Amino acid sequence: MHPFALLDQLRQRGFRLTKQRAVILQALSELDGHASAEQVHAQVCRYSPEIDLSTVYRTLEALCELRVLSCADLGQGCAQFEIVTGAPHHHLICQGCGHVILLDHSYLAEAAEAIRRDFGFDPIFDHFAIFGLCAGCRSSTQEST
Ligand SMILES: [Zn+2]
Ligand SMILES: [Zn+2]
Repeated sequence: MHPFALLDQLRQRGFRLTKQRAVILQALSELDGHASAEQVHAQVCRYSPEIDLSTVYRTLEALCELRVLSCADLGQGCAQFEIVTGAPHHHLICQGCGHVILLDHSYLAEAAEAIRRDFGFDPIFDHFAIFGLCAGCRSSTQEST
């Protein structure tokens, strides 16, 4: 989504758009997908060097609480932030080679439905990282054993 379209949408949803929030959302959309707080900070520094890393952290956390951003540990040892746009998606992450596969929400939508039905519990499945072994790594471990 274009950053300005996103900002308009947020204003319409009644969010207070401080300069920091606008700058950080713009940086995230320029980074195209997932970015860590450090990456966002490096991007923000290009046009707003006065915004320091702790401000970036605080703002990212506030935007996650507002569900404007989602936050997931994708195995790089730090949280990855991402702009929430419509349909949720998830990631399959190979612990062997680090390969990341995008997982459509339909796989987890069925599980969410079953949890709602059996427990009356509405789970938040907005951004999942599922760790395991990819097909390539599985076949190479089988060959070596
Ligand atoms: Zn993601
Ligand atoms: Zn792999």
